[in-house]
Amino acid sequence: MRQKIVAGNWKMHKNAEETEDLLNALIDKLPTDVEAQFIVAPTFVNLASAVQHLEFTNISVAAQNMHQAEAGAFTGEISADMLKSVGVETVILGHSERRSYFGETDSLIADKTTTALKHDMTVIFCFGEELKDRKDGKHFNIVENQLRDGLFHVQAKDWERIVLAYEPVWAIGTGETATPEQAQEMHQFIRDVVRNQFGNNVADDVSILYGGSVKPENAKEIFSKPDVDGGLIGGASLKADDFAAIASAI
Ligand code: PEP
Repeated sequence: MRQKIVAGNWKMHKNAEETEDLLNALIDKLPTDVEAQFIVAPTFVNLASAVQHLEFTNISVAAQNMHQAEAGAFTGEISADMLKSVGVETVILGHSERRSYFGETDSLIADKTTTALKHDMTVIFCFGEELKDRKDGKHFNIVENQLRDGLFHVQAKDWERIVLAYEPVWAIGTGETATPEQAQEMHQFIRDVVRNQFGNNVADDVSILYGGSVKPENAKEIFSKPDVDGGLIGGASLKADDFAAIASAI
């Protein structure tokens, strides 16, 4: 059975005090009676305190990125071991902002995924087409290639620690959302790609989240689609009321 998941990517927002305030508000407001996993991804410097703060709650903590190497002379970078050592078990990889502003390629994201899995971490693997790809009718090809180049090297047994997050780049932070039908069409396609490569068990069990301007107003309809197993939320995850409303729509 696949998991329903609502995850908030806080990006480069919230200092230490603001992080604590938002976590407290989420502890108060997130539903406790739904069968879903809730995840927040604060900045690196606030991960350790967030893990401690959220102990004994139904909210877990993810990092927004990590380096693929075990350790070494990589100034400014953070390793899987460092994340695990402060209690972080999940990492977001391949976010479109990492791909576009920091030049992350499918092959680099594949390496990061390998390292994260080696450390028994769960990977929220982000991918999705740009607007020009969709206009050119290439969106299915692009998405299939991202999956192949980023994840086809992962062994079937390790897929229980992969969460897919389909995030059409044109919908991220733009206020423009894929329609529920567009999301379902792509999620079904993604599940079929996974099915062809890894078989029914992996395809049926993998959670596929939708990301791109999800808000309290559109969450319920998007989440109602059969192949949408939750959401990766950016802007709306920074407001406790909005994130709680989205979480309640799962
Ligand atoms: C994201 O950054 O992953 C995202 C989905 O952002 P937003 O919800 O703001 O579009």
